[in-house]
Amino acid sequence: MSNPVRVSVLGVTGSIGVSALDVITACAPDGPQFEVVALTANTRVDELAKAAIKARAEVAVIADPSLYAQLKSALANTGVEAAAGEAAMIEAAERPADRLVAAIVGIAGLPATLAAVRKGTTIALANKESLVCAGPLLIREAQRTGARLLPTDSEHNAIFQVLDRPERVEKLILTASGGPFRKASLAEMAAATPEQARAHPNWAMGPKISIDCATMMNKGLELIEAAYLFGLPESQIDILVHPQSIIHSLVSYDDGSTLAQLSMPDMRTPISYALAWPERMALPGLERLDLAKIGRLDFEPPDEQRFPALKLARRAVSAGAGAPIVLNGANEIAVAAFLQRRIGFLTIAQVAGEVLDAYLEDLPSAKEPESFEAVFELDRVVRQRTLEKLRLAA
Ligand code: NAD
Ligand code: MG
Repeated sequence: MSNPVRVSVLGVTGSIGVSALDVITACAPDGPQFEVVALTANTRVDELAKAAIKARAEVAVIADPSLYAQLKSALANTGVEAAAGEAAMIEAAERPADRLVAAIVGIAGLPATLAAVRKGTTIALANKESLVCAGPLLIREAQRTGARLLPTDSEHNAIFQVLDRPERVEKLILTASGGPFRKASLAEMAAATPEQARAHPNWAMGPKISIDCATMMNKGLELIEAAYLFGLPESQIDILVHPQSIIHSLVSYDDGSTLAQLSMPDMRTPISYALAWPERMALPGLERLDLAKIGRLDFEPPDEQRFPALKLARRAVSAGAGAPIVLNGANEIAVAAFLQRRIGFLTIAQVAGEVLDAYLEDLPSAKEPESFEAVFELDRVVRQRTLEKLRLAA
């Protein structure tokens, strides 16, 4: 890798973005030295400006154009360029960089990720919804341009770290913490508040993914993500509940060996791996894994009755023909409605299932989206349908 390493972070004010910037700015003197190109955020203009000044970024972009003046004044006389709006987000993603961290949440991250793929950029991909919605198209586009999609979601990063012979893989085993409701009854889950659902036992994350962990839709989306990234059918991908989140995933080979990656639950480890790949870089400040102190690692099968999202994801990825886009779009709408206290917790997976089932009934008429425009159009229709089903105004 060239030295210094030019890096951009899309979604720098989020949980992954903050961790990525921490890895970039606090690296050891003998590791890669980074030069920050573009940083982006949706609405948190003060945090974006602070991050851009600290990292001496070339440009900071706020997606919401009404916040441009505020960003510009926060960056006055700092040497950091200010920009705003959709086109500026794409332009930021297109700026030449050795690495780009894709850390926007939801399908909202797809346009910028795609712009970077089209430039042939090597991408640390955390934004799983882009892959869920457009995996086959993104991978094809990456093959065309020479872009690399480096798995940065902790489970996929773990698999990537131990996947030395893809052709001999029998199973991928994605671990799941089980979330805050691992032991909750259906009645408790029905009454759950956004605060209870957001209280993840092991990880501090953004609001949407925290709710996805509580419904286990996150693991469902990750199953689809793994199927696309590693080119395997869902029948070769298992989910294993492992409450301590120390083993981040496993790969079983046809000689009986199973390889795993273990580390403390801290996203800086997989992010650093994707930033330094094919090397590794030191993270001196990080808590080290002490298995004697942890004492035991537990495992159990997932409960698909209380967590129906897992079955929905299997159904969606094996059906193909746009079904993962439908599941993702319905889930994004339902999660937002739950966070606004407009629907109950169990309604999230229920409505996602209903919207998916209605789509699958018409499946003979559905085909695999052949363009990114078709992906965005299906997403738009599904969002509208889900809002109608929930009887909510957009
Ligand atoms: P977050 O909500 O904390 O941050 C999201 C970031 O995206 C913010 O910087 C926000 O400004 C930006 N953003 C949101 N909507 C936008 C829009 N419409 N346009 C432009 N920018 C927008 O989310 P997060 O927890 O950091 O997760 C980011 C992505 O990484 C998600 O896809 C998530 O599934 C994935 N991921 C997160 C974790 C984690 O530990 N947080 C782990 C693995 C994967
Ligand atoms: Mg994950």
